[in-house]
Amino acid sequence: MLRLGAASLGADERTHAGDDHVAHNYAPLPVTLTRGDGAWVEDVDGRWYLDLLAGYSALNFGHRHPRLLRAARNQLERLTLTSRAFGNDQLGPFCEELATLCGKDLVLPMNTGAEAVETAIKAARRWGYRVKGVPAGHATIIVFSGNFHGRTTTIVGFSTDEDSRDGFGPFTPGFRVVPFGDLDATAAAFDETTVAVLVEPIQGEAGVVVPPTGFLSGLRDLCTARRALLIADEIQSGFGRTGRTFACDHEAVVPDLYVLGKALGGGLVPLSAVVGDHDALEVLGPGSHGSTFGGNPFACAIGREVVAMTTTGEYQARATELGVRLRRGLDALVGHGLREVRGRGLWMGVDVEASVGDGRAVCEALLHRGVLAKEAHGSTIRLAPPLVVTERELDWAIEQIAATLHHAPPPSISWDDFQAHEG
Ligand SMILES: *Cc1c(COP(=O)(O)O)cnc(C)c1O
Repeated sequence: MLRLGAASLGADERTHAGDDHVAHNYAPLPVTLTRGDGAWVEDVDGRWYLDLLAGYSALNFGHRHPRLLRAARNQLERLTLTSRAFGNDQLGPFCEELATLCGKDLVLPMNTGAEAVETAIKAARRWGYRVKGVPAGHATIIVFSGNFHGRTTTIVGFSTDEDSRDGFGPFTPGFRVVPFGDLDATAAAFDETTVAVLVEPIQGEAGVVVPPTGFLSGLRDLCTARRALLIADEIQSGFGRTGRTFACDHEAVVPDLYVLGKALGGGLVPLSAVVGDHDALEVLGPGSHGSTFGGNPFACAIGREVVAMTTTGEYQARATELGVRLRRGLDALVGHGLREVRGRGLWMGVDVEASVGDGRAVCEALLHRGVLAKEAHGSTIRLAPPLVVTERELDWAIEQIAATLHHAPPPSISWDDFQAHEG
């Protein structure tokens, strides 16, 4: 398989068949992909690109991982969908295995991340009324500035990003926004109506923002002391991305509810879940919540394989080791095109110096060099390669980033030449 850095062929902007009919709620980079293999993707013109976005962590295990394909194919031959009106033989084992991974009692499967966040909000409110004794209709949930928890009307209602909210009100009440990383402000926002704190342990969409050490454990203490549920949205940070199974593990924090998605579906299907103990999740009885596709045997079979792959610890170790390498490479570029590098494990947010251009321009230049990355916003680019990426692929990607920041003219060295040089 020929893997070219796209630069040598000079990708140009173009539209492809049917694009006129795609609603404009995204502004993708000008590339049309048709095949994926591990950390690489091929476009319709036969050019290969190293994928440094990995579907926003949905592709932690890379494109079409053989173990996941095998699990999917086996299940396709047997049973794909039952609805929850009936049981299926993948749901129970999936929930048991995922609960064990999380050290919890119960799993409530959904499909997309936003649905899982909504599920956690509903569980927390009901828990607040039925268990904590908050007066009916008064529950509040504390959330953080810069949050990203999905795109439903309730969730965007407590976003602090004006583009996400503009024109979509009126919004669901009952949320209090405090500055991310500020424990004192969080403590001050608590009162007797507070049923939960909803937090991303590392804010992905905000640009891979890591909170100060002690923030998560401080939230854990506050929630325990003030009797509220700590809800960790690990949709983007979970399943090895940060070098641990969950980002909360870095501070030995165990939330009351894990909200999981993205990588849980192995890059094959949408699969999300809320994971917690009896006291928090048992408030959702029959008739109170559900999903036609949630818990379907096809997704559960894939999710079981994801859990099994996560249990080996291999991907967490890769994220740690490769993360050090990526960090070293990017840190060397600070003052040479980069203003700042943040992150943990194989997950970095970089701020580009104004003289270089904005994040979008850098991502377009990287595209021409055979590297796919995406700006988070403004001058910030997020880097989250699949955890199956190799050291040398990563080194090559760092070279492409360095060349882009230095405005080196393409073509830079292609992946094939790079390999040949390294022997
Ligand atoms: C992606 C994401 C979501 C939303 O997931 P969808 O599957 O797109 O609905 C929620 N929270 C976080 C932290 C995310 O990164």
